[in-house]
Amino acid sequence: MKVDIFDSSLRDGAQAEGISFLVSDKIKIAKALDELGISFIEAGNPGSNQKDLEFFKEAKNLNLKNSHLVAFGSTRRAKTDVKDDLNVNALLEAETEYVCIFGKSSLFHVEHIINTTKEENLNMISDTIKYLRSKNKKVFYDAEHFFDGYKYNSEYALETLKAADDAGAETIILCDTNGGTFPSEMVEIINVIKKTIKCPLGIHAHNDSGMATSASIEAVLAGCTQIQGTFLGYGERCGNANLSTIIANLELKKNICCLPSGNLEKLTSTAKFIAEVSNFQMAKGMPYVGDSAFAHKAGMHIDGVYKNPKSFEHIEPDKVGNERRFLISEVAGKSTVIAKINKIYPDIKKDDPAIDVIINRVKTLEYMGYAFEGADASFELLVHKALKNFKSFFEVENFKTIGEGPSLENEYSASAIIKVIVEGEEEVTAANGDGPVDALNKALRKAIGKFYPILNEVSLSDYKVRILDGKESATAAITRVIIESTDGKSTWSTVGVSKDIIEASFKALIDSVEYKLFKESK
Ligand SMILES: [Zn+2]
Repeated sequence: MKVDIFDSSLRDGAQAEGISFLVSDKIKIAKALDELGISFIEAGNPGSNQKDLEFFKEAKNLNLKNSHLVAFGSTRRAKTDVKDDLNVNALLEAETEYVCIFGKSSLFHVEHIINTTKEENLNMISDTIKYLRSKNKKVFYDAEHFFDGYKYNSEYALETLKAADDAGAETIILCDTNGGTFPSEMVEIINVIKKTIKCPLGIHAHNDSGMATSASIEAVLAGCTQIQGTFLGYGERCGNANLSTIIANLELKKNICCLPSGNLEKLTSTAKFIAEVSNFQMAKGMPYVGDSAFAHKAGMHIDGVYKNPKSFEHIEPDKVGNERRFLISEVAGKSTVIAKINKIYPDIKKDDPAIDVIINRVKTLEYMGYAFEGADASFELLVHKALKNFKSFFEVENFKTIGEGPSLENEYSASAIIKVIVEGEEEVTAANGDGPVDALNKALRKAIGKFYPILNEVSLSDYKVRILDGKESATAAITRVIIESTDGKSTWSTVGVSKDIIEASFKALIDSVEYKLFKESK
């Protein structure tokens, strides 16, 4: 069995608070969705938005392999001839094979929101679909507020579907526009309308009660063959049905095909890419694709997974292109650390004396306020150093920072001087920056960049500061800094701790630079 995945990240998803796509962003996302093998990509409303029309023009050159682009619009307005309706005609300008239009199925909306008559609304649905069909478009019909409309006046809601069916809609999509319908209720309604409507059905669920994903899955099991949603559930208010979760669930748990065979393994990387382009930090706990989806922390869990991953994992992470992680923490036992070391040195024996050295070192550092959960690169360095596989690339003799206030626009607010020794050669450099950490970062790169030009590739992508109180570290008011660095190909995180925020930052910076140099030297 197969269902069509209809992604509306670029249309419904673009309505999420905090999202603002450029045309170039939309092109990137469309390419990624096509690469993954999504059947339909709804990419905007050419009638309402110049940017969307521009997208469709550019998208023509994309030569998508798997996906069909879909332009989105609505039925004609009341009391206008469909041929003269500007929005309906704008849909044609997108020049897509498929279009998706929404119309009203709730009598409440017909009479109280768009203020027209029952009959005129049915004509609006019918005229628009027939007109688009006469222009050789395949038409998906979104029955807006269908479930609420059905509860308000089931007879009329059904009539609107019949109008769409008779006019030649390709698929009729039942929308839970306000997101308040329970999955069980939806299934009941779908089972009734299946008897009358012969056209294939789809589902479009919003997440206002937190059930959009399960509602969509239940709707498919009840016979719907198209699922509309957004890739990570982004959308207005509480978002839409989350396609990344739905796809994995249907393929792995229900044996229902959503993607070309073999493509499920691209799920996690696609999700990360889309989050990145949307300028969102993806929730760590996102099912299947989140960083924490297969991350184990409690000692007993780790022990179990170490013996057999099935003990605490519902699927194998690589099925969706994700990976298992063991978090380092005081609550974790020895096996966590061994499992993490094993990822770096697969051949190390459980009784290797270096293992105890590493465990003791981790414990001491955690006592001082370090946390390696979000700093894999610092942990890796610690292991290489303990196993004496790390040769130092440079030494820092000392550094000095000077800050100035108030900070003025277009002027640096701090400067730093640093003295390093590289291969016996002493190097003193100074740099200005926006704040002391930035100045210090620049001075460090200037000093050692001369010897290691590869560092030009590296930039900081995230910087997090946490002040720890007495509960979390032995001494009160300790600062922990975690920085994320990238060279465009990969990202890595490092940690530094000190009672001084600049020194904590500097330690994390040193680890970041050492990690990059170490990787490049291998
Ligand atoms: Zn919607």
